[in-house]
Amino acid sequence: MTATPAPDWLASLRRRYGELAAPVRTAPDPVNVPMIRRWCEAMGEHNPLYLDEAFARASPHGGLVAPPAMLEVWTMQRFRPDAELARPLMGLNDMDAAGFTAVVATDLAQEYVRYLRPGDLVTQRVYLQEVSDEKRTALGAGHFLDYRYEFSDQHGELVGRMHFRILKFRPVPVADPVAPAREVRPAHAHPRPAITPDSEFFWDGLKRREILIRSCRDCGHLHHPPGPMCPKCHSYEWLARPMGGRGTVHSYVVVHQPQLPGFTYPLPVALVELEEGVRLVGNLRGVSAAEVRIGMAVEAEFVEVEPGYVLYAFRPAGTA
Ligand SMILES: [Zn+2]
Repeated sequence: MTATPAPDWLASLRRRYGELAAPVRTAPDPVNVPMIRRWCEAMGEHNPLYLDEAFARASPHGGLVAPPAMLEVWTMQRFRPDAELARPLMGLNDMDAAGFTAVVATDLAQEYVRYLRPGDLVTQRVYLQEVSDEKRTALGAGHFLDYRYEFSDQHGELVGRMHFRILKFRPVPVADPVAPAREVRPAHAHPRPAITPDSEFFWDGLKRREILIRSCRDCGHLHHPPGPMCPKCHSYEWLARPMGGRGTVHSYVVVHQPQLPGFTYPLPVALVELEEGVRLVGNLRGVSAAEVRIGMAVEAEFVEVEPGYVLYAFRPAGTA
């Protein structure tokens, strides 16, 4: 038996492995303290190596450094509809032409070679690494595209790498975004969360219709999403504490795109502050996007979206 030959567009894309997938881009501004501060504020990052000049000067770094996770921030495309800047990565137009018009990012991994300091000027190069054979996924049939990013400094020295994988797929028919909210036809299974050893207890709890939040065994701090370590005291000891499910809308967004099977759009998604003092992201049900208000009292409910697969959502308090 011989393998089916790759279609022409795929074969020609595969001949371009290792080529630049976008113009070389140098950051518009050098690494700088104001952007570091704003990023730390947005991310809730308090490490004094990034924020406290005196502390950082006395550290082995000898001065402020940028959080490594900001690697891509410096060269990131500006948020404006500028044709020159908005050129898609190589391969994406070919995929559109072949009918794989929908896109979702599936993996992003960064590797840091050295800390960046104020004054460093970052240049980014991105290469097409690989295009997979056609795969069947919960979203539809598609191909995974792998891109390799290399970040260098003003001396041309490598400072970090990034691997970025996206799935380009044939979309299932979706709702008209201006039409009234309706269920997108579940032509495929409801998308599943990525479950890790750290988060497994949370999803297991939902099967028993419990919202379990990781509580530090040493300092009692509640933290979510679950990670391996208490972000407050760095203890690895923890227990799963059931929550009462009542809270208030701390913030929210209304999702219009991308539309996945199994959800109703426009979809209000809230960051809910639970009474116990921890925040949890959840879909809002029983309330239209236009009616959601910050501060609104909500309570959790459990939805068995498929047999044995239970998710939580929030609805206005007292409307169950
Ligand atoms: Zn702790």
